Amino acid sequence: MTAALERKLLDRVRLGRVPMILMYHGVAEVPEDPNLLCVTPARFAEQMAWLERRGLRGVGIGALVDAMRAGRARGLVGITFDDGYVSVLEAALPVLLRHDFTATMFVISGRLGGANVWDAGPSWPLMPAGQVAELAAAGMEIGSHGATHVRLAGVSADRLDAEVSGSRKDLTALLGADIRGFAYPYGSMDPAARRAVADAGYDYACAVETPMAALGLAALPRIYAGQQDTAVRLAAKRLLYRAHVLIKGSIVVKGRGGNA
Ligand SMILES: [Zn+2]
Repeated sequence: MTAALERKLLDRVRLGRVPMILMYHGVAEVPEDPNLLCVTPARFAEQMAWLERRGLRGVGIGALVDAMRAGRARGLVGITFDDGYVSVLEAALPVLLRHDFTATMFVISGRLGGANVWDAGPSWPLMPAGQVAELAAAGMEIGSHGATHVRLAGVSADRLDAEVSGSRKDLTALLGADIRGFAYPYGSMDPAARRAVADAGYDYACAVETPMAALGLAALPRIYAGQQDTAVRLAAKRLLYRAHVLIKGSIVVKGRGGNA
């Protein structure tokens, strides 16, 4: 067997063995939520308790990717929060710590301490740098969600560089730590965006819906978790996800910096 083929086989991980990755935004009681971005703290606690009851463990995506590479991802569920809302620190972190879970928070490097001005809906505060550092110190993974929260599909090369590579540099300087993950704002990506993620030195990126041809470490699919997701609905989603991936087959998990 050639070394290249051997590597290819080692790198290939059955998607059916890749646990699902949940996507959250805020965790708060809010009077209006037209974009369905928040779960209440009570619902979030119920969802995390359900995972633990099922013998599942919530982890950040860096840890999940490591486990996938080592063939030890069974029983793990990825947990992610996009945008970096203050409510995640206040309401989600205590629940995660109680279960001994970790998660990845994808923050917007150019909007720390600001608000979700890109949304037409209600305004919610985003964590300032100090709170992001607090999350990291509590054992959570910090990833990038871009510099300003724009759709990356079709943007100019300069803009792509600022959003993808620039945000990684800024967050690395801010936290003094390696930033391994990226999450595409709005889940918007194209081949150029996926290439930019790999070129910028990220280890993986999270999308939302991933076309089959793009499946890989530069476009990990995620499942939306919302207020309507009781334990029963979450269980149904997990079954649907497993059925889906069994039908669709496998994804290729390449080494760090690869063009997966
Ligand atoms: Zn976002």
